[in-house]
Amino acid sequence: MARSALQPLILIVEDETDLVTLLTYNFEKEGFRTLAAYDGDEAVLIATEQRPDLILLDWMLPHRSGLDVCRQLRRAPKTRDIPIIMLTARGEESDRVRGLDSGSDDYVVKPFSTSELMARIRAVLRRAAPGMADEVLSCGDVVMDLAGHRVRRDGRDIHLGPTEFRLLRHFMQHPGRVFSREQLLDVVWGHDVYVEPRTVDVHIRRLRKALNDTSDADLIRTVRSAGYALDAQTA
Ligand code: CA
Repeated sequence: MARSALQPLILIVEDETDLVTLLTYNFEKEGFRTLAAYDGDEAVLIATEQRPDLILLDWMLPHRSGLDVCRQLRRAPKTRDIPIIMLTARGEESDRVRGLDSGSDDYVVKPFSTSELMARIRAVLRRAAPGMADEVLSCGDVVMDLAGHRVRRDGRDIHLGPTEFRLLRHFMQHPGRVFSREQLLDVVWGHDVYVEPRTVDVHIRRLRKALNDTSDADLIRTVRSAGYALDAQTA
């Protein structure tokens, strides 16, 4: 893929042509490349063929809702990892995007300011970019194959649940860095979902148990009153 990492490709899915024109203008001014789709089926087709770095998806579309499109994109292997920001109207729609497991990474309520939208897009891209750039991560004797969804430690297969997998991926992308429970919640669960900070401890415990054989060094460091880190150096 000869795509410049400096110029993320954004797929705009919206049937209001004036808004598409405005967004296209603003995104290109910010250094993004853009694609546009005017209904859900077109969006799925373009997303599958072009694999954009991010999809901006309006809830209100002809024929089928953006929510429905979002679910379809999340189910398909080719599109399930593409970050999605939903555009919603104020009120019931935004409540449903927040409350339901729509699979979107974030949502923006209409009417929105361009600067707010840009900030959300950059935040979602920042979170997604490390995982998209690297297919295989390694840290100490742990190797993570992101494409194959496999983890090995010292040649041994490690079986992780989806949450533990996301936690480990985040640690492996930032070895040595300490993350608070709130930061981990934000990255792993998404900041629109309410999860108790203690839940993080539960999943860290499971991750540790899966990673550490009795003879292995514990790679996950608990930093009192600060959070957790993954250490690259094993004793
Ligand atoms: Ca619309």
